[in-house]
Amino acid sequence: MSGVGQDYPVTRGADRGGEPVAGDLSRPRLTVVSGPSGVGKSSVVGQLRLLEPNLYFSVSVTTRAPRPGEVDGNHYHFVDSAEFDRMVAGNRLLEWAEFAGNRYGTPREPVEQALAEGRPAVLEIELQGARQVRAAMPEARLVMLMPPSWEELVGRLTGRGTETEAAVAARLAEAERELAAAGEFDERVVNADVEVAARRLLDLIAGGGDSAAERCDDTEHHE
Ligand code: 5GP
Repeated sequence: MSGVGQDYPVTRGADRGGEPVAGDLSRPRLTVVSGPSGVGKSSVVGQLRLLEPNLYFSVSVTTRAPRPGEVDGNHYHFVDSAEFDRMVAGNRLLEWAEFAGNRYGTPREPVEQALAEGRPAVLEIELQGARQVRAAMPEARLVMLMPPSWEELVGRLTGRGTETEAAVAARLAEAERELAAAGEFDERVVNADVEVAARRLLDLIAGGGDSAAERCDDTEHHE
């Protein structure tokens, strides 16, 4: 697989580089940012946090062990399998999924509270979770971050050095599946430059582009 970014109509962040973000942050809405492992979701979302601190960034729960440098309650809430089961059983997760042998989920209450307080919320989650959010909240906007090329993604994933060979292989298999689903997303943003991609994301959160729910009402929409 090569040149993944060229197979789809792609929103290239570089087209909007450096522009001030116009738009309406007063209509709170959920934005889901997905994309294959290694595409740079955390960096782009981290940059987005600097650009617009008023957004609410969900902190997921996971059964994965912390990586060096990860802080409980900051990067994730690290929980054991029993606690994760309790959260699922108690309907305390907005969505959850198993990914590369671990479970990940979005705590429901803080997201609902942020939206009620008027803060747009951002979830950084994988594909199965994005699909659950789409089904539960059609007004959410789904954005897929794309690598500039497949080769670049492989390089980023293998170069990270924090995973075993088997874990890298599992993540590459997942990455291929995720990229094949790019057409299901409202927007696709190529991460060739973190700052540019983050600005494009903020532009989308602030009102640019349509969610699936809006597209249903808009027969004149064109890609
Ligand atoms: P990592 O182990 O690299 O931190 O995350 C693995 C994958 O799980 C990434 O694609 C990440 O976006 C996704 N992920 C993180 N939190 C959640 C969550 O709450 N729900 C779902 N469905 N995926 C998540």
